[in-house]
Amino acid sequence: MTTYTNFTVETDADGIALVTWDMPDKSMNVFTVEVMDELEAILAQTVADEAVKGVVFTSGKSSFSGGADLTMIRGMFSMLAEEKARDPASAAQKLFDVAGRMTWLFRKIETNGKPWVSAINGTCMGGAFELSLACHGRVASNSKSVKIALPEVKVGIFPGAGGTQRVSRLANAQDALQMMTTGSSLTPQRAKAMNLLHQVVEPAELVNAARQMIKDGLKPVAPWDEKGFKVPGGGVWTPAAAQLFPAAPAILRRESAGNYPGALAILKCVYEGLQLPFDTALKVEQRYFTQILQTTEAFSMIRSLFISMQELGKGARRPAGQPKTEFKKVGVVGAGFMGASIAYVTAAAGIPVILIDRDQEAADKGKAHSEKLVAEQIGKGRMTKEDGEKLLSLITPTVDYAALSDASFVVEAVFEDRNVKKAVIEAVEAVIPQTTIFASNTSTLPITGLAENSRRPDQFIGVHFFSPVEKMMLTEVILGKQSGDRAIAVALDFVAAIKKTPIVVNDTRGFYVNRCVFRYINEAYDMLIEGVPPAMIENAAKMAGMPVGPLSLNDEVAVDLSQKIMRASIADLGGASVKPQHMKLIDKMVDELDRRGRKNGKGFYDYPAKPAKKSLWPGLKELYPQKPAADVDVAVLKQRLLVTIALEAARTMEEGIVTDPREADVGSILGFGFAPYTGGTLSYIDGMGVKAFVALAEKLAATYGDHFKPTPLLKEMAEKGQTFYTRFDPYGEVGKAA
Ligand code: NAD
Repeated sequence: MTTYTNFTVETDADGIALVTWDMPDKSMNVFTVEVMDELEAILAQTVADEAVKGVVFTSGKSSFSGGADLTMIRGMFSMLAEEKARDPASAAQKLFDVAGRMTWLFRKIETNGKPWVSAINGTCMGGAFELSLACHGRVASNSKSVKIALPEVKVGIFPGAGGTQRVSRLANAQDALQMMTTGSSLTPQRAKAMNLLHQVVEPAELVNAARQMIKDGLKPVAPWDEKGFKVPGGGVWTPAAAQLFPAAPAILRRESAGNYPGALAILKCVYEGLQLPFDTALKVEQRYFTQILQTTEAFSMIRSLFISMQELGKGARRPAGQPKTEFKKVGVVGAGFMGASIAYVTAAAGIPVILIDRDQEAADKGKAHSEKLVAEQIGKGRMTKEDGEKLLSLITPTVDYAALSDASFVVEAVFEDRNVKKAVIEAVEAVIPQTTIFASNTSTLPITGLAENSRRPDQFIGVHFFSPVEKMMLTEVILGKQSGDRAIAVALDFVAAIKKTPIVVNDTRGFYVNRCVFRYINEAYDMLIEGVPPAMIENAAKMAGMPVGPLSLNDEVAVDLSQKIMRASIADLGGASVKPQHMKLIDKMVDELDRRGRKNGKGFYDYPAKPAKKSLWPGLKELYPQKPAADVDVAVLKQRLLVTIALEAARTMEEGIVTDPREADVGSILGFGFAPYTGGTLSYIDGMGVKAFVALAEKLAATYGDHFKPTPLLKEMAEKGQTFYTRFDPYGEVGKAA
């Protein structure tokens, strides 16, 4: 047996070398420079060793591999930034070489002369699946935990280590494009049906089945290296392809408004590559990959959606020196809309939950929500009956606060009313141990104020969930003035335990996410009042990369909730805090027209009975004299929607509400889907350059109002040539690209 740092190689009596990938100190295998070096050495070793007849490649962990390592990617961007500063001409060439390392290593494996079989035992993503595609055989376990995907497009790039060429030479073109442009996961069965796997076998049989393929004489030649190879479906010069390829860019444009250069590059790679010999096709892919890596979109998306998201998930903001909390019991008080869901996600994480409400019926109703979700999951085959029963057994609905006497964490989600919350805080603190952390899920009440009702405000904190809790990945952890380090650590541990991504935000009205969301919705009110046709507002938002138009979003959160919040602002902050025309519009919607949003079937949209789809309420156009569509510049609408949100994010940094640009970025994408190709609110500003952003904001301010005026901080940053990531450098190493 030969042992490498990340692999072991064991050759059996039949001459089959079992290469097991098992990286020390990592929960998942990932591609690093060292891994590639060792893979190269293993290849040389197995080629040179005459006793070796073939190689079975597998993982020693429960998953196969997650793809590339984030430090390697960060390193690549640092290298690019340094090279660009030193010698721009050679920077692209260097990047081309670095980006091609995997491509040509995998090609070497494919053409080494001995058969390799990849034995896929668990999740197999990105580069790891591209490596598998370069093997001559691919076997996967028949298990729910096996997910196969080329998800690169989701972080702004594309499968650039041969993926676009091999998938499109194995699967039919439409399936290949669909898989890569969406980045979606395939089950082993689906991957086999697409011709991407040779076999799907029971997990215990995996390595044997892979060995057997070699014993059965698997040819060490890829189909495309055989004479007379034909692309499935016949290639790009067929009637079917003539239907597919001209339409594909249009479909992509409809889906993503041309905002994702990585997705378009997939179409180019496949279309051009299928007309070329394989090695030339790989080179074309390598060129496009190098080009895409240099786009602002790729840089910003990788930073926010890959690197920062992982860092925040792993506790980047967790105070040092605090021991990790194992949650033996969690309390949720208020079993309503939010509390019921918080109880579900907690139990789904294997943590026992005490679910309290005012009466047993209400508490039971809260648990019934989990019962419904579990039944649905079982019905869809996503959960076994036993797992469902176990999950439900963890939730105890009750009215008895004494059940919280050994809870390590309690979340309240009772009515949004200071007095109700005060009573609950007192009732909970009367029974919980001295060490328990109390969290409020309030969405509008300042945490510092609520903490005044607590006997130990240092153990009081906000944990702000988003609905639907089961789906939304983000949780805002809100710090009151006195919230202590232990409260932060425990809250972050809880968010991590339920597998959500946290951002840590200082106390303020609306916290971070809702402050941004209100700006988005307010801009739509302005547009409506100006007479912009409502459909143009919604479409411009989608074209700008937002998942949901602002009017549709307002319907989801409820128009009467907007009214309540606006009235509260006026009461607390004075009349100037809400534009009178906005208040008039919303009062009319709610009080006169009873258009409260999706919940009563009528808001800015009409919601007819299913299967009919929602459509914009025609009466909306009657409210204000309409501008002719030709007089409205969609490009400006797009800018207004993004800039107003980005400005609010910048204000939260300036005010010290959000302190780490990674949190502003990740929070904006996970919290309300801020145009993901930008990398988030602050990366949007950094990406165009603070100077250009300030100029754009000033231009918009001249026509559309003072809320577009750039803030003093932005002006100062523009003058000094700073970015958010250099000024508020989360790594403390200004100068290095992150
Ligand atoms: P809800 O009305 O659906 O649920 C509140 C629950 O609290 C009810 O079941 C009620 O019976 C219970 N309750 C009231 N007084 C109680 C008491 N004294 N003791 C025990 N239980 C009591 O409301 P919701 O939408 O779930 O909101 C709850 C909290 O979550 C609010 O603070 C709200 O601001 C916040 N929040 C809501 C959302 C959202 O989208 N709805 C999002 C984030 C945060």
